[in-house]
Amino acid sequence: MLPALFLSHGSPLHALDAGAAGEVWAQLAQSISAPTAVLMVTAHWETNLPMLSGNERPDMIYDFGGFPDALYSIKYSAPGAPAVALQALALLKLAGITAAIDDCRGFDHGTWVPLLKMYPEADVPIVQLSVQPSLGPAHHYRVGRALAALREQNVLIVGSGHLTHNLRDWFAGGGKLGEKNYAHEFQSWMFEHIKARDRDALLAYRDAAPHAVRAHPSEEHLLPLFVVLGAAGTDYHVERKFSGFVGDVLAMDAYIFS
Ligand code: ZN
Repeated sequence: MLPALFLSHGSPLHALDAGAAGEVWAQLAQSISAPTAVLMVTAHWETNLPMLSGNERPDMIYDFGGFPDALYSIKYSAPGAPAVALQALALLKLAGITAAIDDCRGFDHGTWVPLLKMYPEADVPIVQLSVQPSLGPAHHYRVGRALAALREQNVLIVGSGHLTHNLRDWFAGGGKLGEKNYAHEFQSWMFEHIKARDRDALLAYRDAAPHAVRAHPSEEHLLPLFVVLGAAGTDYHVERKFSGFVGDVLAMDAYIFS
């Protein structure tokens, strides 16, 4: 059975230079036997119901503005995997979760930034899964539980978000926030509870974790983690492969659950 991954994808600039995080993404992919497909849960696709991409030849989406021109000519030409999308849809239906397939959706940068490093040959078919910011962590955990069976069919489930994601603090120069940095506290709390497999505390993170609302003014970048936790089940082993920061406020944790 394949492991499941959670990655913090950084900014679009990580497509040009992903630094140490990018090396970890590449190593993670190399450490896992070649998957039939990747199911990528992306924070940059927000919908009211779970949507799966069913496009055979997904186009690129440059879903950002004001970045260097070089970013807008990047191509990631992996094929889609409509059959895996249908399988995922069937599993969600079995679990009583209404979902649908979008046959037009292309790759957003939550998907292609890490995949450029993970599978640079673009030879692994990709299905994207959206997040539902209005439905919260428990819903995303249920979605992950429903999709866990895909791991047995050689599908690699990857959550692409960010462990902390307050862009206002980042723009304000987060490195000067002082010694008792809230993002570090939040990061520690999350990883401690992930290691302890404390699902109830994690699902209640918004009330239970220190500085949760400041770490995630909106939840979309953390929600892929709950899908991955659901897919990991109740008896996982987790390793943190990366724990660096962008600007000292955007935690870039990368986890592998096996
Ligand atoms: Zn992002």
